[in-house]
Amino acid sequence: MPKALVIGAGVAGPAVATLLTRSGWEAPVFEARSEPDPFAGLFLNIAVNGRRVLSTLGLEERLLSDAHPAPNMVMWSGRGKQLGVVPNGPAERPADGGVVVRRSWLHEVIRDGAEQEGVKLTYGRRLAEVHQHVGGVTARFTDGTEEEGDVIIGADGIGSAVRKYVAPDVVPTFTGLLGSGGFAHVPGLEPTPGIQHFVFGARSFFGYLVREDGTVFWFANLTADAPPADRSGLIGSGATSDDWLARLRDLHSDDPAPVPQILAATKGPVTVYPIFRLPRVQPWWHDRAVLVGDAVHATSPSAGQGASMALEDAVVLANHLSEPKRDFQAYEDARRDRAEKLVAYAAGIDKQKRVSKSRLSVAIRDLMLPIFLRKAGADHRNDWIFDYDVPFRGGRA
Ligand SMILES: Cc1cc2nc3c(=O)[nH]c(=O)nc-3n(C[C@H](O)[C@H](O)[C@H](O)COP(=O)(O)OP(=O)(O)OC[C@H]3O[C@@H](n4cnc5c(N)ncnc54)[C@H](O)[C@@H]3O)c2cc1C
Repeated sequence: MPKALVIGAGVAGPAVATLLTRSGWEAPVFEARSEPDPFAGLFLNIAVNGRRVLSTLGLEERLLSDAHPAPNMVMWSGRGKQLGVVPNGPAERPADGGVVVRRSWLHEVIRDGAEQEGVKLTYGRRLAEVHQHVGGVTARFTDGTEEEGDVIIGADGIGSAVRKYVAPDVVPTFTGLLGSGGFAHVPGLEPTPGIQHFVFGARSFFGYLVREDGTVFWFANLTADAPPADRSGLIGSGATSDDWLARLRDLHSDDPAPVPQILAATKGPVTVYPIFRLPRVQPWWHDRAVLVGDAVHATSPSAGQGASMALEDAVVLANHLSEPKRDFQAYEDARRDRAEKLVAYAAGIDKQKRVSKSRLSVAIRDLMLPIFLRKAGADHRNDWIFDYDVPFRGGRA
């Protein structure tokens, strides 16, 4: 049986391992964390293109059992004026709108699904190096252990160790945004079924939704010229969770309700992290190593597509893997343009989220956006993002 070493048990890793197992591979997954993290990140959007893959995996129904459908995004100015409503999905198809889920729930569903299909997930194994040899590949872990495989798949996120072997010169680009967020309960705040709200706050961008049980999911994107010196530290510059919460409350103190109320009700802990993207990785594979998901096309969360694109990669790569044939180039050819276009699209949204120091440009934006967004509901220009649909062919591309 051919063997694929899969590095990373986030979204792409267990998904590709499941599909390869169905195609007759042994596909063990090695994850650096010592155990599954119940608070892995905050929450994220799963778009219909990602849901199609979850359906292929047989996991869509379970995921949706704890999801907030959000087919519409309502945009607000920092003065509380509604600027417009934008579909969170293909135009005029609300049933195909995005759903928002806790990141840890998405991980759990994909992980459980993989294990049920016989994938072996091992925690506490951080890949250090990849070595190629005649007839195979060796993964060397930081604990000194090694694993042998026919191929190695880097599903190890934006800081990918496999990418250091495949494309060592690639450096992630800072988006100019810091991300933060949390959960809260605000007495009296009504649920927002079908909707996620976005506020162009005076000094920081803010998004929130209220689930049926009253739990508020919120995030803030702070504008920053450079990432904190400690890139990896979520709370950089020595600031504590309380310091950041105080700063966020201050930054959003003049914004319309319920933004200040949500932050007042947040108990923490609050993390703040710099957001990076990978506009272009060259190449996507080398010898017997190949990259998927954030490891090869990390995008800012602004387009709500990071996890969905990682899931798409899993299907396309699995379609091109049938030992002894490993058509990594065909996989790259099938995915590169779409991934780069999406990363660029998200970068465009990042720019709009950065707070302008010019009061004039803010006034112009607040005046013009309602005009641009008036027909957003019937604007099909973004349908290419959502209409991607590649069936799983079990190793037969
Ligand atoms: C902390 C965090 C919070 C996020 N929050 C959001 C959000 O709120 N909204 C949003 O849209 N997107 C968010 N994202 C991005 C989104 O989760 C990704 O786009 C998506 O998960 C891509 O999936 P992936 O499997 O490629 O990578 P990931 O989900 O990042 O998974 C990579 C996995 O590889 C593991 N790993 C890393 N290095 C090694 C190594 N050397 N050896 C073994 N394992 C390794 C990591 O621990 C991780 O489990 C977040 C990402 C992170 C890391």
